[in-house]
Amino acid sequence: MQKSLIKRKKCLICGYKPLKKYLDLGKSALANSYLIRLDSKKPEPRYPLRVFCCSNCHLAQLIDIVDRKQLFDEYAYFSSTSPELDLHFKDFARHISQRFPDQTKRMVLDIGSNDGVLLKHFRKLGSTVLGIDPAKNVAETAQENGIPTLPLFFDHLQAEKILKKYGPAGIITSNNTLAHTDNLHNIFSGIKKLLDIHGVFVFEVHYVGNILKKKEFDNTYHEHICYYSLAPILTLLAMHTMNAFDVEKVETHGGSIRVYASHPNVFPIKPSVKKLFDQEKKQGLHTFSTYKKFSNVPQKIKKNLTALLQKYKKQGKKIAGYGASAKGTTLLQYCQLGPQIIDYIVDNAPSKQGKYTPGSHIPIKAPEHLKKDIPDIVVIFAWNYANSIMKKEAWLKKQGVKFVIPIPDIKVI
Ligand SMILES: [Zn+2]
Repeated sequence: MQKSLIKRKKCLICGYKPLKKYLDLGKSALANSYLIRLDSKKPEPRYPLRVFCCSNCHLAQLIDIVDRKQLFDEYAYFSSTSPELDLHFKDFARHISQRFPDQTKRMVLDIGSNDGVLLKHFRKLGSTVLGIDPAKNVAETAQENGIPTLPLFFDHLQAEKILKKYGPAGIITSNNTLAHTDNLHNIFSGIKKLLDIHGVFVFEVHYVGNILKKKEFDNTYHEHICYYSLAPILTLLAMHTMNAFDVEKVETHGGSIRVYASHPNVFPIKPSVKKLFDQEKKQGLHTFSTYKKFSNVPQKIKKNLTALLQKYKKQGKKIAGYGASAKGTTLLQYCQLGPQIIDYIVDNAPSKQGKYTPGSHIPIKAPEHLKKDIPDIVVIFAWNYANSIMKKEAWLKKQGVKFVIPIPDIKVI
């Protein structure tokens, strides 16, 4: 199994080396490889989880790359199971349709379309849509829901085939997927090829500025290869003769940026681009020492969280988790929290229920399980949804249950 690990030496975007390490979370099982059963004779493969930074284009990135087929063949994350994400994409589709009506009338292509969470909204607004997603199981679900979806990895070659069959795309979207690839240049040259001459490429990526500011070290996992600020994105677009003409901050996944790009000289470049670039420079995102400082964060969170939970356990309290997300698996593994501390963890996604968290082996149940086996403490691993979770499960408070939010600083509510 270890054979499927590739070690890169150069920056994924600009090719600069050597890259400098700033974060080391030890060895970790793959965050989305939920276990159907526990088999002590077959230990799961674990891979180094380390983040490096490029001193030239400032892209933060993993250098230990797990074979993408192993990561994405079966994917347990169905975007539509998250109501917040569904609402976000509904707004996204409406906003893009209003701002770029001519482009939206042409084909809308979504790279990493998951179960069609975004495209179903574009379709309702009257667009012709096409999804692309390498995870066969999610692509099938999208197909069943009436969203035409090609089960493949998007690259230049596929772009040529799609162009021949469907013509150019007026809008190309890619949300939360560009962080998950080490094939960036191949993807961007495909986008350049397939995008209509007046077309718009809109994408959202998790913002490294928020990761550092909000201490989100748990957002590090093997699927998450790139951690973007605007600077490396501008370099990447320029290498493919494209321009970013607008950028916005959005709330998704604890803080992301939405970038609007096109062929050169199609849209005037808005002041937002320079403004964010200057702002992140001031924040130190183009300086290695800022990243280096962040390397102390995980240790502190681990120390405080394990001390608190062990104290509760000694008092005989039952502890449940909420949200078996990828970041939850990183946090659990790094803090070495297993079923001895966390009795069970609940998650909305039926595809995860009945399984065990990778590496930490905690049983995953449906949220209704909380009623059958009422805990004393609920640790919210999906902390970006903490408010809506506490609202949905407000009955727990009446039972005297305490919520623990682990990130950015431990909060007991
Ligand atoms: Zn670079």
